[in-house]
Amino acid sequence: MSSYRESLKKLSRKVYIQGKESADPMEHPLVQPGTNAVAQTFELEQQAEYNELIFAKSHLSGRPVNRFTHIHRSTEDLMNKVKLQRLLGQRTGTCFQRCVGLDALNALEITTYEMEQALGKPYHQRFNRFLQQVQDENAVCDGAMTDPKGDRSKRPHEQADPDLYLRITGENSEGITVRGAKCHQTGALNSHYIIVMPTLAMKEKDRDYAVSFAVEADAPGIIYILGRQPSDTRKQEPHRADVGNLYYSGQECLIVFDDLFIPWERVFMFKEYQYSGRLVERFAGYHRQSYGGCKAGVGDILIGATAALAEYQGVDKASHIKDKLVEMVHLNETLFCCGIACSAQGGVAPSGAYLIDLLLANVCKLNVTRFPYEIARLAEDIAGGLMATMPSLADLDHPQIGPLMRKYFQGIAGVETTCRLKMLRLVENLTLGPAAAAYLTESMHGAGSPQAQRVVIARQAELENKKMLARALVGREGDDKLPE
Ligand code: SF4
Ligand code: FE
Repeated sequence: MSSYRESLKKLSRKVYIQGKESADPMEHPLVQPGTNAVAQTFELEQQAEYNELIFAKSHLSGRPVNRFTHIHRSTEDLMNKVKLQRLLGQRTGTCFQRCVGLDALNALEITTYEMEQALGKPYHQRFNRFLQQVQDENAVCDGAMTDPKGDRSKRPHEQADPDLYLRITGENSEGITVRGAKCHQTGALNSHYIIVMPTLAMKEKDRDYAVSFAVEADAPGIIYILGRQPSDTRKQEPHRADVGNLYYSGQECLIVFDDLFIPWERVFMFKEYQYSGRLVERFAGYHRQSYGGCKAGVGDILIGATAALAEYQGVDKASHIKDKLVEMVHLNETLFCCGIACSAQGGVAPSGAYLIDLLLANVCKLNVTRFPYEIARLAEDIAGGLMATMPSLADLDHPQIGPLMRKYFQGIAGVETTCRLKMLRLVENLTLGPAAAAYLTESMHGAGSPQAQRVVIARQAELENKKMLARALVGREGDDKLPE
């Protein structure tokens, strides 16, 4: 959407790319494909068949708003979110970035309500005024949670450098100042606001680190450093065909907050360390749900590309190839099932917002740390080694070697060699290239690394209850001293 792109160009930000400050980052070839992916969340608004998915009724204004700015008000809303994410994954073949802000908004809505009720501080009122603005502007928000963390064996206040977790450095009657950084921030340069949250459950000694706020993306004191992706410089080559996905990519940045000032109106948590764990758990829970949608959508692209290659290479009728494609679909749909299930089993929070079933959302994400890797393994198995060894697609245009490429890389009759080679590049993009950062590494570590999901699953496992169920079937003789 041109107005979306224009709104980003108007932001005056300090952005560094490949060791240089960029005067016009939105025009940079490493940035544009990421913006294209977020722009699809606006593009869908123009297509009547997707109205139900992309629009939702705001509980604040009663008006339709883009679902990426909406607070879920039913289990249907939660399921529609996952369906929308799958659709966008299918369209972009990568991370379309806008979900982190949506998940931050929903986690904060529930948590600021609780804080206002219990503490009598106006956090929820402030949050709602911010939310209203986000909905009115149809703004893109970046949900920023992950601190650098330094020595992982030490708490935030124990770190040799106190800035390794983002912290409060001052306060006055106007607001607060903060210093620190947030790592691998999805869609940072494509956002209008940054929503900062603590990265873990804080204890009393870490109270200066229990802080949450929203800030304009171009506030003075914010520095953006663009993250790299595998093979990303192919996007800078004049002949961009070797990128694989010609239009879209994800985006991550390191964001540094250098004594940034935040007015009280935008502060949603200030040293109330008892609430930091709940905020983290809810944000992570929502984002673990999200992966059941987006990764299944990207999986659809990888399965489609693999099936097309099998056909181009004349192996699509082989029974082991059919079996492997079925296995890929089975794994991919299992992720989607998990996203839908944790949504359907969700429930209402005291604020009126709907929260996913946390156990099922964590099961969803733990599967996401494995299944895309297996799907990628099967895709590479079927695609063959050429995806990692073939010459550049630029060679196709050369008068002497172009014909050789076409002759020696041809597949079945009737399919242009170019089609086969482009599809190989797409599989390479998803499994080894720029999108592998979004489809694989992000599946492992995004919304928390696998151990974080195991901790929540262990907490929610109700093993005592399961033991009782088992005991009920074998009788309780000799078991009298155990709890009922
Ligand atoms: Fe959305 Fe998926 Fe990207 Fe997270 S990883 S922002 S859920 S597309
Ligand atoms: Fe993510």
